[in-house]
Amino acid sequence: MNDVAAVTSTDTGSRNDSIDAVIVGAGFAGMYMLHRLRQLGLIARVYESGDGVGGTWYWNRYPGARCDTESVEYSYSFSEEIQQEWEWSERYPAQPEILRYANWVADKLDLKRDIVFNTRVDRAEFDEDLAQWRIQTNSGDQAVARYLIMATGCLSTAQLPRFEGLDSFKGAWYHTGQWPHEGVDFTGQRVGIIGTGSSAIQSIPVIAEQADHLYVFQRTPNYSVPAHNGPLDPDYVREVKENYQQLREQARTSRRGYILDVSPVRAQDVSEEERQAIYEYRWEVGGLGYLSSFGNLLSDSEANETAAEFVRDRIREIVHDPVTAEKLVPTDYPIGTKRLCIDTHYFETYNRDNVTLVDVKSAPIETITPSGLRTSEAEYELDSIVFATGFDAMTGTLKNIDIRGRDGIQLREKWRDGPVTYLGLAVAGFPNFFTITGPGSPSVLSNMMVSIEQHVEWISDCLEHLEREQISHIETTPEEEQAWTAHVNEVAGSMLFAQGNSWWKGANVPGKPVVFMPYTGGVGMYREICDRVAAEGYTGFVLRPVHVSTAD
Ligand code: NAP
Repeated sequence: MNDVAAVTSTDTGSRNDSIDAVIVGAGFAGMYMLHRLRQLGLIARVYESGDGVGGTWYWNRYPGARCDTESVEYSYSFSEEIQQEWEWSERYPAQPEILRYANWVADKLDLKRDIVFNTRVDRAEFDEDLAQWRIQTNSGDQAVARYLIMATGCLSTAQLPRFEGLDSFKGAWYHTGQWPHEGVDFTGQRVGIIGTGSSAIQSIPVIAEQADHLYVFQRTPNYSVPAHNGPLDPDYVREVKENYQQLREQARTSRRGYILDVSPVRAQDVSEEERQAIYEYRWEVGGLGYLSSFGNLLSDSEANETAAEFVRDRIREIVHDPVTAEKLVPTDYPIGTKRLCIDTHYFETYNRDNVTLVDVKSAPIETITPSGLRTSEAEYELDSIVFATGFDAMTGTLKNIDIRGRDGIQLREKWRDGPVTYLGLAVAGFPNFFTITGPGSPSVLSNMMVSIEQHVEWISDCLEHLEREQISHIETTPEEEQAWTAHVNEVAGSMLFAQGNSWWKGANVPGKPVVFMPYTGGVGMYREICDRVAAEGYTGFVLRPVHVSTAD
């Protein structure tokens, strides 16, 4: 079948009817899922809370928003036509360009007519007798579908700390993940930004250029490596496009979903001089590949320390004021155990006269005041506050929807002590229900595009099998999901991840169970496991055939 030919779906008619599948979310996962289901001849409908496609890139419009994965890799690979036709302008694509790409693909595949925009799924309940999901939305739409596929993204529920006094603030405030579409002009303003994660590190240099003064309220300093972004060299792009098939295959079978795989060499197996030269080279190349310098950086403290110390030295070199530099140097967790940041002149920004770093670990924020913010040490007058405080990641959005499986069991109740899944794809008690890049899969520890495509293709192959074999129910078992979740924990436990207070383990949301959520076993190995499960007839799942009545 032509991979991009717009597939004609049967008219889905009114919005209170029975269809084959409901997909929640029209980001890159939901868009591709819709396309694949149409290719199977299934009638699918996507519900999307925004008024456009793009998911993460629809919501995150903060200044400087840009993908940390290179554009030629952060793009769909399923269609030769799409990957050959689209032209990226920069090494790392900026948010507006990614959003244009998402819309271009959606139009090319004629996806939008099966997407219901401005509509949030509130509730979904499985009717076991009919083997159907009943879905309700905030606009009163009701759909009945045999399959429910959550393409809700991993970072789609903004985390806003409950600071006292926010309601009294007379200025304007924003969360990076819910940025106003019309943009914000900070010219002449005193701006405070809370947080120094990836979103903050991208926006701080841009806001600093505009604002009269920028106060950065930092709780935990972050390791960051330069992006060295710039226009793409047409010769490089031509070469990539000529070799796309092979390069994509390399990414699919790699550890993290990138073309350039992790080095197999241990950091201790080379001389000090050689090690420094490798870090120097990776720093000059820039980007997330820094952590691929050696194979044991995320599993061996001694090796990790060499990579961490190299970055600390760069921070001390870049930042002129030694007191500020020391505050910016991360010392109490290994590099890579919180998501590595990629920046454009982040540390250099602290050399500007109009930027002040405020350490809110030693002097925490006590309250937001009508005119700004007060820490335990000082008061700051602010016109605007930017919350770059992250997300209730991986489970937040799924738990916010009232999803009820067999016997009324609620997903949010089932996951009270942390998510349990089989392969990050399925949950016991929830038949015909799939999560794309869910907890227990490599997802956020990988190139998301690679992991999204792998899940979408696995799910659509699975549905094709169910349709062909006339299976009405597919469901994993409690034993399988316990075993898989134990395996996810065991692999993560053999690495250094426990040492970082990351959102990967829910440590950023007060009261959230601290459980390491993504699968660290590697993208290539995970794909092999999923493929084997399918090839062996969906081991770990119980498949029930359609009930055929014998009565005349
Ligand atoms: P984040 O990494 O969770 O960072 C949130 C920041 O807010 C942290 O510095 C955190 O401090 C701080 N914070 C939270 N609550 C606070 C409080 N009560 N008081 C003071 N500080 C507080 O969130 P993010 O920067 O939005 O990034 C989330 C993820 O999105 C990234 O890790 C990345 O995977 C993805 N992302 C990707 C890109 C990209 O590809 N370009 C860009 C942006 C984001 P602590 O560290 O002390 O908790």
